[in-house]
Amino acid sequence: MTAVHVPGVPVIEDGRLVSTSPATGAEVGRLPVATGSDVRDTVERARGAGDWWAGLGFTGRRERLLRWRSRIARRMEELAELAHAEGGKPVGDAAVEILTALEHIDWAARNARRVLGPRRVRSRLILAEFTGHLEYQPYGVVGVIGPWNYPVFTPIGSAAYALAAGNAVVFKPSEYTPAVGQWLVDRFAEVVPEQAVLTAVHGLGDVGAALCRSGVAKVAFTGSTATARKVMAACAETLTPVLLEAGGKDAMIVDADADLDAAAEACVWGALTNAGQTCIGIERVYAVDQVFDAFVDKVVSRAGRLTVGPDGADLGPITMPSQLDIIRRHIDDALAHGGRAVLGGPDAVQPPYVHPTVLVDVPEESAAVREETFGPTLTVNRVRDVDEAVERANALPYGLGGAVFGRKRAVAVARRLRSGMASINSTLTFAGMSTLPFGGVGDSGFGRIHGEDGLREFGRAKAITRRRARSLLPAMTFERSPADVARLIKAAKLMYGRR
Ligand code: NDP
Repeated sequence: MTAVHVPGVPVIEDGRLVSTSPATGAEVGRLPVATGSDVRDTVERARGAGDWWAGLGFTGRRERLLRWRSRIARRMEELAELAHAEGGKPVGDAAVEILTALEHIDWAARNARRVLGPRRVRSRLILAEFTGHLEYQPYGVVGVIGPWNYPVFTPIGSAAYALAAGNAVVFKPSEYTPAVGQWLVDRFAEVVPEQAVLTAVHGLGDVGAALCRSGVAKVAFTGSTATARKVMAACAETLTPVLLEAGGKDAMIVDADADLDAAAEACVWGALTNAGQTCIGIERVYAVDQVFDAFVDKVVSRAGRLTVGPDGADLGPITMPSQLDIIRRHIDDALAHGGRAVLGGPDAVQPPYVHPTVLVDVPEESAAVREETFGPTLTVNRVRDVDEAVERANALPYGLGGAVFGRKRAVAVARRLRSGMASINSTLTFAGMSTLPFGGVGDSGFGRIHGEDGLREFGRAKAITRRRARSLLPAMTFERSPADVARLIKAAKLMYGRR
């Protein structure tokens, strides 16, 4: 890594990872870089801590997780300022992100026992003399690898659920936001001082790679699709299970009966919040012909009013400077292939900022439509009807979230979107609903965080049968007689042979 300080680009100095503000270049965090053996040692220690944590049971963990939640909540202005300083996002956006993360800690802590705890399962006629028992036991140590764009919400979306399920967590924050990651870990250590149940290891991508190979029992990765492939390949070596929350190119569909003001307002927020650096951000819109022009006008007038700048503006800087080239390339490519910029355009890229850019009539094969842009840009294309909109929305390998605006057909359209999540008459809201699972399909990954599925993701199903009476029709034994087998066949035909 170069020693030249580019604002926002982390550097390593004397074995320390130094993070800086992408807006000002001011130093924000200085954390020790973990070596490969540090990572292995941390995981080893976490194993013991995990046993202790699992031993606390659901009640003990719930109590501590709720205290962690309270600590974060009470100091949320401080955390929001830190996220703003380190990643550049507006303090208001950071506050909303933290609020969402708090809700997830709260829900995971309160619901872990109900979802994962031991319970009796009814048997069926075939094994009526047995009862079933089911519980979800912790994996042990879970490795959580997080991105920089939502440095509070994304790791907590995995870590809170993994912890509630009884696992210890070793967390590798993004190299762009290590101070935020360490802050979360430090608050946890204040309420769980006995053992290192949640720890962080810092460094560049190689530290994440080392974590995948460190003997953790599961890896929960959130980041780009390209890195997700590397994580899965590394985990394949040891058959370590993975949860992959990867990139997206989410589409919004605007039907003829949509409330256009509401659609434009939600679209502008869903596309441009956090300067468009949102995995579930709206990057493409398909609006039906009848409402296309009016919708575009409303989007442009709203997006055109947004302010861009360091402090107090609606949009902050682009966190990762290298992303600026991608954003510029997508805009240039769209215009070169016949698209039109109705707001912004090539001049919108003014490092480290990008001003809102709305592109219309962009060919479907262009990079701005097919690749993740991760900037405050949006394509809006005209479609004949919602069927064409769904077809185009579903044409990419990504499938994370999506949105539908409309009335009559909205639910049906949302169900047809090839994505893990969708919101109707709003954007991004599914991320904050702790009772719903979150995750993608295709290149957006697999596995689920949040909700009951998110808790189960971090527990291994343990199935137990228990005999409660003698078998009237012995089947699973060498003691059965030919007459028993004949009776079994007769019973099987009676039970399953009809129709
Ligand atoms: P990256 O994939 O670049 O990095 C994600 C994390 O993986 C970082 O901590 C990174 O460390 C680490 N890493 C890098 N290389 C390796 C490796 N070989 N093995 C293991 N870990 C490694 O993503 P970004 O941080 O740039 O985040 C943006 C991406 O995340 C976007 O594509 C976005 O869509 C996606 N995302 C997905 C979400 C979802 O829930 N589906 C939510 C939020 C973001 P380092 O930073 O040190 O390189």
